[in-house]
Amino acid sequence: MPENTQKSAIPFKAETRQILEILIHSLYNEREVFLRELISNASDALTRMSFEMLTNRNVLDPDAELKIVISTDPETRTLTVKDTGIGMTEVELIENLGTIAQSGARNFLKAVEEGQQNVSDIIGQFGVGFYSAFMIADSIRVVSRSYQPDATAAAWVSTGEDTFSIEPAEKTDRGTEVIIRLKEDAAEFTEEHRLREIILRHSDYVPYPIYLKDNPEQVNHQTALWRQAPHQVEKEEYEKFYRQFSMDFEPPITYAHMAIDAPVQMYALLFFPATAERNIFSARKQEGLKLYARKVLIQEYCQDLLPKCFRFVDGVVDSEDIPLNVSRESVQSTRIMEQLEKLITSKVIETLKKLGENEPEKYETFWKNFRHFIKEGVATDFEPYEKLLPLLRFYSLKSPDQWITLEDYVKGMKEGQQKIYFLLGDEKASLLHSPHMEAFRHNDYDVLLLSDPMDPFMLLRFKKYETYELVNITSRDTEVPKIEKEALDHPDEVISDEKIQYLMDLFKTQLGDRVSEVKTTDRLVESPARLVDPEGSLPQEMQRVYHLLEKEYELPQKILEINPNNSILANLAEREKDDPRVKDIVEQIYENALLIEGLHPDPASMILRIQRLMQEALK
Ligand code: ADP
Ligand code: MG
Repeated sequence: MPENTQKSAIPFKAETRQILEILIHSLYNEREVFLRELISNASDALTRMSFEMLTNRNVLDPDAELKIVISTDPETRTLTVKDTGIGMTEVELIENLGTIAQSGARNFLKAVEEGQQNVSDIIGQFGVGFYSAFMIADSIRVVSRSYQPDATAAAWVSTGEDTFSIEPAEKTDRGTEVIIRLKEDAAEFTEEHRLREIILRHSDYVPYPIYLKDNPEQVNHQTALWRQAPHQVEKEEYEKFYRQFSMDFEPPITYAHMAIDAPVQMYALLFFPATAERNIFSARKQEGLKLYARKVLIQEYCQDLLPKCFRFVDGVVDSEDIPLNVSRESVQSTRIMEQLEKLITSKVIETLKKLGENEPEKYETFWKNFRHFIKEGVATDFEPYEKLLPLLRFYSLKSPDQWITLEDYVKGMKEGQQKIYFLLGDEKASLLHSPHMEAFRHNDYDVLLLSDPMDPFMLLRFKKYETYELVNITSRDTEVPKIEKEALDHPDEVISDEKIQYLMDLFKTQLGDRVSEVKTTDRLVESPARLVDPEGSLPQEMQRVYHLLEKEYELPQKILEINPNNSILANLAEREKDDPRVKDIVEQIYENALLIEGLHPDPASMILRIQRLMQEALK
């Protein structure tokens, strides 16, 4: 007999009261969701029990069927939800049902205030699900007995007002019974057909059988949808399963269903969520797939079935070939896990490829939300990374607003083109305006625009697509399409060699150590100058990676290349050296080049000079 046989009144935490008020008043028309919440708690308790029993047989009722039984008594207007799950001790009853996880409660209240979400959709996600039963209850009594063999039963009782109490109770078998005395206007919840309807709507895929008392037939389908033949399952069923499985209220962007026998037996159901942020509403607390061995859940978040870059994929894997009765550590090291990973990974890639081909708009949404995962895979863990290349999408010089694939790029290559050209930078817009593009634009070559922070990382491994090498167009040794004379800004008056030498000296003298060299180039059309790295300097993708990782590195001193066909330079060469405008123009040409490279440390500092030049121009 526990010492404390006296009923004790314990106050709820402040937030609990507020939540009860909201639930009772805002959910009248959807109050049936209370049953979903109680069933989901029972199901969680059963899952925790089956985990415990993987390694521990010293439990109360080790052979009890894992199930949920719902019974009613119209006479007394009671409804009971009973499970054979892990149960709760007296202390756990107080902790779990008396105080709500404070942060969850606060977030819930905030979400309700903001009014964006439907209250019925979110109660379960904030760890306040149990309280929803007060929408339909005059009073609730929870009688529970923990799985621990020496624990005693206890009861938690409340009318949902200010307090609850704890009392000793009689219960000989393991698990929890939630006994609800229904409000007068909630008598419908004693009707069997009504309960059946609610269970099918909200809890059809709960992975344990749900029985209505006295009826030996299971109500929910609990068919382990993934064990059915894929051609027999309709899209709606997959989506309904996903909704109940993940508590994600947006349908998945796509899904894949595998049922194979060789080289290993396996069923898998894989879902690609619509958005990347794992929001507070989702049922998924960690990354990973649910792993079943012969229908027994052995790991809730198994991260060994997919490479890290596919961690956004949600779903279930079930194999007859995984030995039961193995500890979780040894599951990971079995060869079968490797085989499963291979198969599932190929399926994920194939599914995404198909989506890209058959439903390009959906793939765009996927790419918008998940591209960093795929690029991360190319950059780091995925072997061989070539398999991911068909999933990549790029903006390019010729297609700045519509993503293209590498295959598209290759198809659009000019005759004789052997390389894939790219330009790295911070923003798409400055890439498009870059002087490095001029020769390519005028000769109708396409160039990939790499402005995503992940891109330089990706380039550390990704050097080739099929037989085509990837080439940075800023590099001096890229052989470049010749520019036809007509395109040039100043075609007829090529600046004389003498004047060119004069200009090169002029720039070098004034810029000093800020540039390593001043040279001429035949790769510019409109721009007077551009900056390039000297030979042998760190590749630009490495420079960017260092920069992004805040590692120390020295920005290589750049070469300034000037355009001998540019009219500004032609005019500049005619000016006296000590003309004050000459100095300003040299500075401005250099700083413009810095700016377009994303290297200008203080663009606002140019304003005074620009204003001076404007004044001169207006004279
Ligand atoms: P959540 O399920 O999100 O944690 P709930 O308000 O639904 O929040 O439940 C609160 C807690 O009460 C659960 O986390 C669990 O510890 C405990 N609990 C509720 N129902 C049961 C049950 N049937 N068996 C065992 N524990 C339960
Ligand atoms: Mg719950």
